[in-house]
Amino acid sequence: MTITQLRQQLLAGETTSTAILQQLAGEIAARDPQTGAYLSHDLESAIAEAAHADLSLPLGGIPIAIKDNINVLGQPCTCGSKFLSENYTSPYDASVVKKLRAAGAIPFGRMNQDEFAMGSATENSALQITRNPHDPQRIPGGSSGGSAAAVADHTAIAALGSDTGGSIRQPASHCGVVGLKPSYGRVSRYGLVAFASSLDQIGPLTQSVDDAALILQAIAGYDPLDSTCLDVPVPDYLTNINDGVRGMKLGVPKEYFGTGIDPGVRKNVEAAIQKLAAQGAEIVEISLPHSEHAVATYYVIAPAEASSNLSRFDGIRYGRRAANPTDILDLYKKSREEGFGPEVKRRIILGTYVLSSGYYDAYYSRAQKVRTLIRRDFETAFQHVDAIVSPIAPTPARRIGAFANDPLHEYLSDIFTISANLAGIPGISVPCGTTDFDGGTHLPVGLQILGPHLGEAKLLQIAKAV
Ligand code: GLN
Repeated sequence: MTITQLRQQLLAGETTSTAILQQLAGEIAARDPQTGAYLSHDLESAIAEAAHADLSLPLGGIPIAIKDNINVLGQPCTCGSKFLSENYTSPYDASVVKKLRAAGAIPFGRMNQDEFAMGSATENSALQITRNPHDPQRIPGGSSGGSAAAVADHTAIAALGSDTGGSIRQPASHCGVVGLKPSYGRVSRYGLVAFASSLDQIGPLTQSVDDAALILQAIAGYDPLDSTCLDVPVPDYLTNINDGVRGMKLGVPKEYFGTGIDPGVRKNVEAAIQKLAAQGAEIVEISLPHSEHAVATYYVIAPAEASSNLSRFDGIRYGRRAANPTDILDLYKKSREEGFGPEVKRRIILGTYVLSSGYYDAYYSRAQKVRTLIRRDFETAFQHVDAIVSPIAPTPARRIGAFANDPLHEYLSDIFTISANLAGIPGISVPCGTTDFDGGTHLPVGLQILGPHLGEAKLLQIAKAV
């Protein structure tokens, strides 16, 4: 059931928060050994919280699963990494977790992810494999793959993920659930383990658009602990959610429908756009001329920021500490050598390189300039359209292992999602049917809806119409 349905049952006295948790634990025991979405969960402490859940609050009594890079007091926070999996326990709640608790929700379960959120398949988790509930031979997407897979598998009611270049929207698309990346500054990242600080946002993965609105309502808003978090009022995201798309202008970027898109993805996305037209939206072709540079720009800026953010993992302050170092440099080196997986090392090396004095101008500072051009593309587009509609990913979920040792191929698959992070605008993925692909059948496809900065209410309204 959705949050909305469960809330009705809770308020009618037809179920209790404890009963919901016990049922979830049963579903997890039945299916998660195959799916592998959960890294850990603590039923006992969740049930203790459920006992005094305040049902009068908007998420009162509802368990919400949390990606394992968001701190929850007293729980593990592995980031899918061996660096943190053995001896790190969160000493505090992330601000989003505090806000969820203040809305009555119960954080329950820690979800698998690509190590430090670097990846698009959850295959870069150093801890376990997560499978797509629609086809266990396939990836759930990533990096919030555990969050998406659990919601699709009905082992979680809803979940939080993080999105630096598509990590909420793309796994939502691959698993057939709703995923919302809010605008940069809409939601506090205090307590989210930083990957690329100018791009990271936290958002919900849910079974319905209404549920995404409910969670965004709870987590959005000012937080003095994150200096990038905006002090602007949070609208009521449910007020206009059922108002439909009549009279709206929706832009279809011609650069997003070129070669390389799987025909089944194209067909489903185009059909969804036609349905929006049938409901009264005006569809216009637009251009985002710098789109072709988005992947290169992102894969300079994100690793640069990651190389700086991850320098805190030095073997002293957090997590893993190598045994028997000869001196302090040896301790840094050994701890990082042992603790980080290959993709994280690749990003740190790449990021350090583009920031180094000889290459800074050629790569990092140039990427920042192209980033401005990409942001301006969107600003120009939103002078003419209310929102932009597009695919989320070029193909449905691929097979596990299909891109092994081919990181470039993997990076290129982020083409439709990373521009929103570079521009700081919100994006939502909403299921728009299923297709056959590479021997798999009935694989979910997502429609992406992008809107102007802080335009989440309208995105939810369009997504609901879909
Ligand atoms: N796939 C992208 C990357 O690997 C985006 C990841 C994310 O959004 N956290 O960096």
